[in-house]
Amino acid sequence: MLPFQDLRLTNAAMMESYIAAAQEVLRSGRYINGESVRKFESDMEKDSGAKFCVAVSNGLDALRLILRGYKALGRLRVGDEVIVPANTFIATFLAVTDCGLKAVAADVDETTFCLDFRRLPLSERTRAVIPVHLYGNPCWNAGVFAGLRSRGILIIEDNAQAIGALSAEEGFNGSRNTGNLGDAAAISFYPAKNIGAFGDAGAVLTNDADLAAAVRKLANYGSAEKYVHELCGLNCRMDEIQAALLSQKLLTLSDVIFRRRKAAGLYEKEITNPEVIRPAIMSDGSRQVWHQYVVRHPRRDDLRKYLAENGVATEIHYPVPCHLQPCYKDNPAVSCPGPLPVAERLASEVLSLPIADVSRSDITLVADLINKFN
Ligand SMILES: *Cc1c(COP(=O)(O)O)cnc(C)c1O
Repeated sequence: MLPFQDLRLTNAAMMESYIAAAQEVLRSGRYINGESVRKFESDMEKDSGAKFCVAVSNGLDALRLILRGYKALGRLRVGDEVIVPANTFIATFLAVTDCGLKAVAADVDETTFCLDFRRLPLSERTRAVIPVHLYGNPCWNAGVFAGLRSRGILIIEDNAQAIGALSAEEGFNGSRNTGNLGDAAAISFYPAKNIGAFGDAGAVLTNDADLAAAVRKLANYGSAEKYVHELCGLNCRMDEIQAALLSQKLLTLSDVIFRRRKAAGLYEKEITNPEVIRPAIMSDGSRQVWHQYVVRHPRRDDLRKYLAENGVATEIHYPVPCHLQPCYKDNPAVSCPGPLPVAERLASEVLSLPIADVSRSDITLVADLINKFN
């Protein structure tokens, strides 16, 4: 049986250093707001090039804290419209609707799986756009975003799946690193992400000192100084133990990206079934980090069943577009100004193949099975 991802395998190579890092925190007596978190934040600032990193509890909270931070700074108000791609993990939508903002569902491009820049559902009430670098594929259009920014619209990256990716075009501060392209970015360290914690964790990146300070306060009961609560905050801090483990794990990032890119290149060469649409491998200078390797097939469910019967586990990211989820049925918190044909079709066609920790022979096995499917 080839599992979709076995986290024991993902974490095996560096296990001794994780155990050492965890032990150090356990013995330190300091479990919150200590040195490990400060160090991890500075590691992330160095890696991404962003001026400020705030380590937080998870990726959803990172997005919520950014939106709440902008509300505290007067840049967003209840009822403002935020454009979100319909083909994303539900967290992107939940963050928006949780903050009393209106999520406006946008269709996606079938080649990139990301926002379709030709059809952004802009209105005079649009105050932010959340591009999602889905599956590790950078979603950036310098011309479009510069134009929106000049109208005061915030660009908030959902970088949950794309740590270490590079966009072909530069972001607002000249960097090409996803997470440092727009006004602020959210990262997730959910265990199965390319850099995963041993539990939940996330981070906010930004070059805006005011936003960073607001997010830091909001994540810590609205307080920068003990027992002085300037904002109605939350408790969304990253634990010291996760930060210490993540600083170790971050050392593997270039290796993780190298291996995933190599696996994607092998799938691209070895899958030859003409009915299977392989994901585009961009040659525009961007660096896709392949959080998922997603193929399409008109009879996706049959293909998935066939692979399972032959010992290969797959996943579907995502089977139901966010705007069609039960929580948003007849819910004015989400609006769809136009039809979303691509997002709705992709939901019935996409299939994610194993890519984390796969060996060359795993890939050949999967590709051979797919090539025999008809
Ligand atoms: C994983 C993920 C999130 C949420 O991150 P958590 O750490 O699980 O809360 C948000 N957006 C996208 C696109 C994700 O894949």
